[in-house]
Amino acid sequence: MACSTTLLTTGAPFQPQRIRGAWQHPFPIDRRVWAHTVRNDWSSDEESAWIRVAKFSLYNQLFLSDLLHLFASRDTSSKPEALDLRCASTVSLTRMGRVLQVSPETLVAGFCVEAPMPVLSRANQHLRFCAKCMESGFHSALFQWDFVGQCPIHKTQLIVGCPACQTPIPYFLDSKLAAKPLQCTACSLRLVPNLHNPAGW
Ligand SMILES: [Zn+2]
Ligand SMILES: [Zn+2]
Repeated sequence: MACSTTLLTTGAPFQPQRIRGAWQHPFPIDRRVWAHTVRNDWSSDEESAWIRVAKFSLYNQLFLSDLLHLFASRDTSSKPEALDLRCASTVSLTRMGRVLQVSPETLVAGFCVEAPMPVLSRANQHLRFCAKCMESGFHSALFQWDFVGQCPIHKTQLIVGCPACQTPIPYFLDSKLAAKPLQCTACSLRLVPNLHNPAGW
């Protein structure tokens, strides 16, 4: 499966610094010289936009501004804003599909709705998940609907909030997701421990 590697192709000396818990380049980077790490073998066509973005954020350790630059449907360079990952119209499906190497048709199925509509009020703004699915690195947009009580695969009750400290996890592409992808933003519990292992699965 496709797996591209992050490359820096400028002639500048590379002296990474540890910033916000991740090794990052110490001076501004021209985004045009970057390729991004994509691990399609760690994804499935049925997974939600939230977990696609969270995995991508984990692999690439980008700032929120970089993630918004890549995915937002609107120019957010002057005013970074959180993207509601329940609704596909907040992102550019074409650009996101190109970066994640997934078709726009597959991507859109990972959102609750394509555009804002009244029924969206019944989709939770905090992550709802099946603990067993999450442990294996899977989350479905179906789980966000408040009227869906159980995981159809495991028949277990869907939960909201960190299993350790109960803090709700926002269902947005925001600074918390950029800083702590696939983690509780309060206690740092890792939701998919295997994906934090550098060796992968
Ligand atoms: Zn499940
Ligand atoms: Zn927690």
